[in-house]
Amino acid sequence: NSVFSHVVRAPEDPILGVTVAYNKDPSPVKLNLGVGAYRTDEGKPLVLNVVRKAEQQLVNDRSRVKEYLPITGLADFNKLSAKLIFGADSPAIQENRVTTVQCLSGTGSLRVGAEFLARHYHQRTICIPQPTWGNHPKVFTLAGLSVKTYRYYDPATRGLNFQGLLEDLGSAPSGAIVLLHACAHNPTGVDPTPQQWENIRQLIRSKGLLPFFDSAYQGFASGSLDSDAQPVRMFVADGGELLVAQSYAKNMGLYGERVGALSIVCRNADVAGRVESQLKLVIRPMYSNPPIHGASIVAVILKDRNLYNEWTIELKAMADRIISMRRQLFDALRARGTPGDWSHIIKQIGMFTFTGLNSEQVAFMTKEYHIYMTYDGRISMAGLSSKTVPHLADAIHAAVT
Ligand code: PLP
Repeated sequence: NSVFSHVVRAPEDPILGVTVAYNKDPSPVKLNLGVGAYRTDEGKPLVLNVVRKAEQQLVNDRSRVKEYLPITGLADFNKLSAKLIFGADSPAIQENRVTTVQCLSGTGSLRVGAEFLARHYHQRTICIPQPTWGNHPKVFTLAGLSVKTYRYYDPATRGLNFQGLLEDLGSAPSGAIVLLHACAHNPTGVDPTPQQWENIRQLIRSKGLLPFFDSAYQGFASGSLDSDAQPVRMFVADGGELLVAQSYAKNMGLYGERVGALSIVCRNADVAGRVESQLKLVIRPMYSNPPIHGASIVAVILKDRNLYNEWTIELKAMADRIISMRRQLFDALRARGTPGDWSHIIKQIGMFTFTGLNSEQVAFMTKEYHIYMTYDGRISMAGLSSKTVPHLADAIHAAVT
């Protein structure tokens, strides 16, 4: 008899479980719109050309070794990552009041940031948008924070519930941490306008709340790295403190390399140094130090002007393909005379469309059309191609009529 015989089977992860179900389906027309990974118009995963080139450089450079990185990761990578999100001329960087540590992609950066806050910040409450990426509540709860939600999405308009957001943040516990999606909100694809961001910033600063940005899609939303970083830069420009978790999974296509960074912008250089010393105490017993390969790829690309420019072009091409899929799906539904207003498909931003389809409609589309997506009706536009748009449009049409 096993000492583990009492262990009950856990449910599949709601997002990754979609792919498990998809893999089991023998249908030739099956379509996986569940997972947030970019595909080409041929439906293939993409390794960016600049990534291939950077890897080639790494392989050819015999001076590169496989020694451990420091606990905080690759120093060049950290500096360049901070520059990427805050801007090359960021006063916070010049004043040395930013500490950046390399972490295991976006998820690891969120977790390390949350563990640090649970140990060293006076307020354990973190307010996260409703809805949000399904992993957020688990990451923050397990780190020792207590999760509250703030209103974000309005199903009636399929847009931002701005009034609800302001009310909920306005009545948040004093000093509460506020999780903000830097751009391309997942799962809704709904972002505040620049003016709304300014109002949110004023509210957060006037109430003394602590912003924690999740930046998993920089460059992927608009095609411009700088535009997508604007909300974060607004909050840095006012001199206040904040955290940012960055991921290179989507914008550099480095998903499985697990490359990301946590930056904490502090009031002054002295605080930043002490914060970094404590981040090391969080990281060391968790995984000791981060992996070297992916961070080296990123550093090679960000350091070299030509590679960097090439990256921005490839990144824009990915963003543009997604935007074109929105247009094609919208047009296909209009051509079919599908009932309802589908303009949110072209208004929403980033990798996902929050279709407004309910869980029965999703189940119907999976059963009858072999289309896989999360039960909240979120579809990954990156998983769609010109060839598969008609099939999806047929399925949506059948589901709502
Ligand atoms: N945050 C958001 C909003 C995401 O959508 C994702 C990935 O889907 C992540 C963080 C973390 O991704 P990763 O850990 O692969 O960088």
